[in-house]
Amino acid sequence: REAAAWETRFEVGQTRDGHRVEVAANLGNTAHAADAVERGAEGVGLLRTEFLFMAHASAPGLTTQIGEYRQAVEALGGRPLVARTLDVGGDKPLPYWPVPQEDNPFLGLRGIRLALTQPDVLETQLRALLMASKDHPLRIMLPMIKDIAEFRAVKVIYDRLLQEIPASQRATDVQLGVMIEVPSSALLAPSLAAEVDFFSVGTNDLTQYTLAIDRGHPELSAQADGLHPAVLRLIQMTVAAAHSQGKWVGVCGELASDAVAIPVLVGLGVDELSVSARQIPLVKARLREFDFADAQAIAQLALSQATSDEVRDALEAR
Ligand code: PEP
Ligand code: MG
Repeated sequence: REAAAWETRFEVGQTRDGHRVEVAANLGNTAHAADAVERGAEGVGLLRTEFLFMAHASAPGLTTQIGEYRQAVEALGGRPLVARTLDVGGDKPLPYWPVPQEDNPFLGLRGIRLALTQPDVLETQLRALLMASKDHPLRIMLPMIKDIAEFRAVKVIYDRLLQEIPASQRATDVQLGVMIEVPSSALLAPSLAAEVDFFSVGTNDLTQYTLAIDRGHPELSAQADGLHPAVLRLIQMTVAAAHSQGKWVGVCGELASDAVAIPVLVGLGVDELSVSARQIPLVKARLREFDFADAQAIAQLALSQATSDEVRDALEAR
């Protein structure tokens, strides 16, 4: 099965009847972009830029960041790069950016909240991404957005940079989107969809925050299942809001590479799946096993269950 998938890895991601679903790579290191392309990635759907920041003793400057991002952009050869802005705090501390001791770091200064406390660092990163992606499609993605106010705060900086940097020196095919990984943002997806260019659902954090289960908890994390009907309903709301405004939706959490979950996500209308590079051929092969109408029926079946176990049982029975 794996050998057959490898043979067809450069085919586009689509269901058996030709419904298009882009299959992209999650990367923590820009040096791995070439390998992702070799495995059939149609783009990078999540570049976790925090690893670049963690690899330095202080925040990397503009030139260093441009060099890093450029490596991914060049390997991608015109395929889109979805780069997430710095997502630290919570379980991902940065030694040179100390956060006061918090009782609940997962509910504290992390993601975009933390980034907005040092807007100059965020601005340098946005500038580096824009300049590194000259003549290439760039999608900038903001982590842990809980409502439109946080998006607007970043948009002010972003719009100013688009004015400041001459168009000849930066990306012109560029979109600014947000991760949906906090339940409030899924519930408020209609208001976000009116202003953002795209959504990408981070099912790891969305599941953690919806079910109130620490994603790394030694005993409980097995219950943090993204196929929980509560999580699926939030994804359904997100897709409906996005599509009604002509925006696209990806999924970049672990759920995107779960063979059982793939038809559910496709049936909910997800446009892109972003997974670790080695999973790409298998995800493309999985997509070719069902028709879009089947996926829609499977999604409805999943949504009508009451627990994640019920969802998995119902899907397996089918
Ligand atoms: C997620 O939360 O699903 C996600 C993709 O982001 P990370 O795993 O980096 O928190
Ligand atoms: Mg996350």
